[in-house]
This record gives sequence, structure tokens and C-alpha cells, in this order.
Amino acid sequence: MQHTSYIELSKSALAKNIRYLKKRIGPEVKYVSVVKGNAYGHGIEEFVPIAEQIGVDYFAVFDTYEAERVHRVKRKTTKIMILGMIYNDQLEWAIENDISFYVFEMDRFHHTIQAAKKVQKKAKIHIEVETGLHRTGFERAEINEVISLINSNQEYLVIEGLCSHYAGAESIANHVRVQNQYDEFLRIRDIFQQHGITAHYEHTAASAAALTYPHTILDLVRFGIVQYGFWSRETRIYNLLTEDAKFKKDPLSRVLKWKSNVMSVKSVKAGKFISYGNSYLTSQNTNIATIPVGYFHGYRRSLSNNGFVLIKGRKAPIIGTVNMNMLTVNVTSIPSVIKGDEVVIIGEQGKQKITIASFCETANLVNYELLARIPSQIPRYIVD
Ligand SMILES: *Cc1c(COP(=O)(O)O)cnc(C)c1O
Repeated sequence: MQHTSYIELSKSALAKNIRYLKKRIGPEVKYVSVVKGNAYGHGIEEFVPIAEQIGVDYFAVFDTYEAERVHRVKRKTTKIMILGMIYNDQLEWAIENDISFYVFEMDRFHHTIQAAKKVQKKAKIHIEVETGLHRTGFERAEINEVISLINSNQEYLVIEGLCSHYAGAESIANHVRVQNQYDEFLRIRDIFQQHGITAHYEHTAASAAALTYPHTILDLVRFGIVQYGFWSRETRIYNLLTEDAKFKKDPLSRVLKWKSNVMSVKSVKAGKFISYGNSYLTSQNTNIATIPVGYFHGYRRSLSNNGFVLIKGRKAPIIGTVNMNMLTVNVTSIPSVIKGDEVVIIGEQGKQKITIASFCETANLVNYELLARIPSQIPRYIVD
């Protein structure tokens, strides 16, 4: 069945981004590609194989549902890490399939040991510790118990990681806050080491921390948003201005484009309202094009009378409200638009570009949310 819009993923853009990010962290540091949220809306099943072709061999997901999806399409040697939700009764599945996972509270830890005993295989775990995000992670007061559990169950555990996640790394104003979290991580790391426990990977950095506070890189980086070509808030400004990263041109390229086609065109006389309601009144004879994409397809209704699409390399403003399945644009100033013309919803066409950033300003969203909300049903195609 043909859909009314589609997404293109650029393999060359992804290759360029990954090359740049690997250069920033150096060859000794493990690159983990975060593909939670359906690969930030890009599509797990499409994204994982192309990232593998570019040299990625470790993916991080949120839960077992996403882990299973990666597991189905990945190469045999590619690894998976679960950062978040696992029901206790799914722990055996994870261990059997060599999937590593975060352990951040006692209940999961006890069930992990039981599950490893049951399947007679070591569980590969990443011990997450609290350093200031206050989301998940063992508290300082629990560390001694964690250490004695590790030491008394060595035949059932591989301590693949000791890790934490920053609050506020996307903002330079949080410099002290990030430093405090880093210092706390090192203090806890030292406690583990004093008890003879050294994790294979010590890791704290996601995109923003790795690129703004390079000392947080340690052994492994969990790269999310940047590999898709987007900066995490102030990270871009910082990287534009600092000596060690200085770039004149954005080194990242957007991987995703969202496209559709003109469904119908017609002309409307002056003095008529467009679409439902009375939010747009034509002041002259107006040519309109209707695009078969609406809020059902993930296009925000708040972009009514506000957003743009690209047709024939020109910007066409949305007029009237975004409907459930379609939206209407003004094409009066774009000559000879016909049914079937390509429409770019996100991405570039000719010299014009609709960026996710512009989208976010009008819809008051962060790029993460906008990407993650692109419906998974829209087909994804890989282009060079
Ligand atoms: C989402 C997430 C990441 C990736 O974050 P980005 O800012 O997109 O790089 C890394 N680690 C954890 C634990 C996360 O939840």
C-alpha cells in the first residue's frame, strides 16, 4: 500500500556524521549509537543496517521492545545495550541473547542474578550510579551492597560498564553542575576500584557532554541526536566558538528528509475562507495546493497558518488549519504547480530548506521531540 508521504535517509550524510564524531572521540573510545525512540524517528529497521555498513557495531535502546527490533535486523557480532525498561521476566531473554543492560536498582539486580543462574550464562551489566540527574542510578548509600553482590556473584556477572548520565550538559551555563556530576562519578568509580572492581567501559557522555566537555568521554560515548545531524541545544554554539572544535561550516548533515506530493490544486477567489474555521481569508485570487499530510501523520496542528513546505524549490506557506489528513498551502507565487509535484516537508529542495530547528521554533518543541514523534508507519527509504 502506498503512503501519502515518505522519509528518505541519506547514507552519505550519516557516514559523514559518524566519521566526524569518531574523529572527535579518537580511535580508542567505543562509539555506541543510540537508537531509542525508533532511532529518533529515523526508523530502527532502516537505520541499524546502514549504520552497521558505516562501521557501527554497538547500539543502545530504551527497552526490550526496541532491543528485539534491533536484534532482528542486526549482524551477528553487533551488540545491544538496554538503557531503561526491562520487565523482570524478560531478563532471561536479554541474557540468553547477549544483550547488555543497565542495572540501577536492587530489585533488578537481584532478578538479574537469579536469571543468570537459571540460564547458566553471565549477565552483561552496566551499573548506573546517581551523580545528579535524579532519574535512575544507585545512590551512594547502596554502593557497598552493590559491591558485595558483585563480588559474591562473579560467576554470573560481567561488569561491562560503570556509568552515569548528565543533567544539563546541553547548556554551557551548567558548567559547574556538569563538573560536580563528573567528580562524583570519579569518586564512586574509585570506591569500586578499591574493592577490585573495574568495569570494561566507564561511560558518562551522550552527545552534548562528549562535544562540550571532552574530559567526560572516558571509554565510551553514547551518541544520540548528533549522529542524525542535529545539535543538542547550545552544543552547536559552543562547538562553533571553541578552539579545539572550531568549524566554519556545520560538520553535521541532516540524515532525514520528509517528502510528499501535491494531491490537488485549485484557485480560490478573493474574500473566501480557506479550509475549516475562519483563520485565513483570501485577499486576492489565490492558488492553493493540498498536501495529503495532516496531524494524523504527525504534522503539528499548531503549524496552521504558520509553517511552510517546499514546492519547486520555493517556500509555500500553510494557509488555514492543518487538518487530520491534509494541509493547504498558498502557491499563488509559484508558477505552474501541478498535481504530483514533489513536496518537501522537512529537508531541502533547490536552494531552500525547511529545518527541524525552524519547525521547533514555530511549534515550540525541542528537535528530539519533533523527530521522535514522526510516525513509525511512514515508509523510510535509503538514498545515497
Ligand atoms: C538518550 C540518551 C542518550 C543519548 O542522548 P543524546 O543527547 O541524544 O546524545 C545517551 N544516554 C542515555 C542514558 C540516554 O537516555
